[in-house]
Amino acid sequence: AREPVDELINRLLVTVEDFPEPGIHFKDLTPVFADGRALRAVVDALVEPFAGSFDAVAGVEARGFLLAAAAAYASGTGVVTVRKAGKLPRQTYSAEFELEYGTATLELHTDDLPPGSRVLVLDDVLATGGTLSAAAELFGRAGITVAGFGVVLELTELRGRRRLGGHRVRSLIRT
Ligand code: AMP
Repeated sequence: AREPVDELINRLLVTVEDFPEPGIHFKDLTPVFADGRALRAVVDALVEPFAGSFDAVAGVEARGFLLAAAAAYASGTGVVTVRKAGKLPRQTYSAEFELEYGTATLELHTDDLPPGSRVLVLDDVLATGGTLSAAAELFGRAGITVAGFGVVLELTELRGRRRLGGHRVRSLIRT
């Protein structure tokens, strides 16, 4: 029988203690992405609940890019990038959000997608939700509807889902 996607992820992911800072249990999904069967299963599972409800896929820098391009290709849509400050060359919307120490800024080109588009937003991990709520703010300003959020892993104790308003959130495993 085919191994279910959650078992594949749990078998392959590596938790790295105290990275990048003491006290952080870093969830390293690179072995999941490196496994052909797991990558396909993850991308298919992230897209499936949203099938037919989005016109484009967005990935959040950097690991979200891997998922978003694969999901867009599988769905026959385009892909857009939500990037860290200063990387996008043309006019952007930008949204600042809180990190554990300090703040960070995400940016989106103002014209990558037409207003009224529906976008599926992907990232590897949902922790506090600061990153994805900043992404939601960017799409809101661009007049783009967030069809939903998809992540491989949700750290439920941090209650990031609460910060994502009424949006649908699909996570493949929760710890
Ligand atoms: P947050 O904004 O707190 O939801 O954090 C989500 C972003 O930070 C994602 O882009 C993740 O890649 C990264 N991240 C946060 N916490 C972790 C963790 N424990 N393990 C791996 N990545 C994490």
